[in-house]
Amino acid sequence: MRRCRSPETSAASLGHLGALTLVMSTPNVHVITMTGNASTNEMISRLSLLLGEDKVRSGNGISEAYSHDEALTATPQIPKAVIFVESTADVIAVVRLADELSVPITARGSGTGLSGGAIPHESGVVVSFERMTNVLEIDKVNNVAVVEPGVTLGALDEVLAGHGLVYPVFPGELSGSIGGNVATNAGGMRAVKYGVTRHQVLGLEFVLATGEVIRSGGKYVKSSSGYDLTQLVIGSEGTLALVTEVTVRVYPRPKYSKTMLVPFLHIEDISSSIPAILANGTTPLVLEYIDTLGLSAMSTKVGLNLGVSPKIKESATAYLFIILEEMDLQTLEAETTSLSQLLFSCGALEVYLLPEPSAAKLLEAREAAFWVSKEHGANDIVDVVIPRSEIPRYLNEAQRIAQTSATFISGVGHVGDGNVHFSIYQPDPKLRDKVVMELLHLGLTLGGSISAEHGIGSEKRKYLSQLEDPNKLELMRRIKQAFDPKGILNPEKVI
Ligand SMILES: Cc1cc2nc3c(=O)[nH]c(=O)nc-3n(C[C@H](O)[C@H](O)[C@H](O)COP(=O)(O)OP(=O)(O)OC[C@H]3O[C@@H](n4cnc5c(N)ncnc54)[C@H](O)[C@@H]3O)c2cc1C
Repeated sequence: MRRCRSPETSAASLGHLGALTLVMSTPNVHVITMTGNASTNEMISRLSLLLGEDKVRSGNGISEAYSHDEALTATPQIPKAVIFVESTADVIAVVRLADELSVPITARGSGTGLSGGAIPHESGVVVSFERMTNVLEIDKVNNVAVVEPGVTLGALDEVLAGHGLVYPVFPGELSGSIGGNVATNAGGMRAVKYGVTRHQVLGLEFVLATGEVIRSGGKYVKSSSGYDLTQLVIGSEGTLALVTEVTVRVYPRPKYSKTMLVPFLHIEDISSSIPAILANGTTPLVLEYIDTLGLSAMSTKVGLNLGVSPKIKESATAYLFIILEEMDLQTLEAETTSLSQLLFSCGALEVYLLPEPSAAKLLEAREAAFWVSKEHGANDIVDVVIPRSEIPRYLNEAQRIAQTSATFISGVGHVGDGNVHFSIYQPDPKLRDKVVMELLHLGLTLGGSISAEHGIGSEKRKYLSQLEDPNKLELMRRIKQAFDPKGILNPEKVI
């Protein structure tokens, strides 16, 4: 790996500091032997009596939105019914009946998942959490918020902003629900500073497939009291339990931020700058990699002119997109100066310091990356994670896979935490499958994992079953068996 020159020895970079640019522009263990429609119909009529008809929708009353999430490759499936639960008691009632009648149930938050996790089984029902949207408590002494699972990230942020607080996990889609975030262990751009959902969830209430309610964790940070069930349920994609309440950490809301866009000539320079940035003493809120094509497509999508000079546009291969955040302006200014200096020493072609409107637009553009890929006809997306040090090797090898298979691959990534997102443009399903398999295999070979944050769902299941350690898969099956003996919770997902 290349090394950054020390800022002290880099006279050129110090001179360059003056040029810090201010841009003024704009094999299942459970075989589901459901008795099919008869049991499901019985469940629907009994639930209508038990919960009230307003909470149960079936037949033509079901919108097609409940047949899919946002996965590019999944086949939609209309459920037999959608149950709009409003309380833990409702969830218990649904689960008990599903258990008695062996009807598969799939939990659904907002349906923004990218792996087919919320797609129902053909003979199953959807349990929608969209009516469980209460923020139950903001506890400023313990710095936690207690919420129902249907609360969206956007809604929680609005409430917390009123208290000068923030919940720091921000996957790109703010309409996603906290329950969905918990179930997928969502990450996003701020993971480099705050970790992912599992680092910010302190406690859960969840309902087992057999109807028991479990409370695990709470308003405290430490616990060494047996197996950590909170962490086991986080990331289980609705296959182990239905989450009915979540306790998350909250933090003081920083007042000041600075956004940088930093073009580089070589991908190796980007890679070597990441450990240098993180060792600099300031952890950026956001540290993202965007390739030139990706940046251009995203900027066009949100109508953003970043003011990057044509010369730099021509020579840059990729950019770092960095946000720094602090409670006081002086500290922020000092960090910005020191980081800019460091970036030049690491080979940055320029450091563009964006004014607030452009900064907000660039963040919006980055969050729109998935929609841009979809609009451009991407056939699949991959969210592999690898150790940061392996990023150059991974990107170079991925390029080779793309070339040998005549596949177009474009990339953005939460590079600060080693998470590379590729959009795969390959219409031939067989060839695409091979390309995705190779990319994921490569990630595992380099010490990584198949999915960093999108989850396995239905769409990455075949890759997990072929590439993951069989002993690990077998242990997962035994855990599933213990939580959900009849296999009614989100069958044919994950394992
Ligand atoms: C434009 C865009 C950008 C995105 N960017 C990111 C990103 O940067 N990082 C990231 O991590 N993700 C990202 N995502 C993916 C998505 O937003 C997350 O996966 C999110 O966590 C899903 O929440 P949801 O409420 O939509 O869940 P759904 O899609 O409804 O469900 C997801 C899974 O959770 C299960 N589930 C839902 N609620 C519950 C519950 N109460 N109990 C048990 N299981 C439940 C479902 O069964 C399913 O398996 C992005 C998606 C889009 C569309």
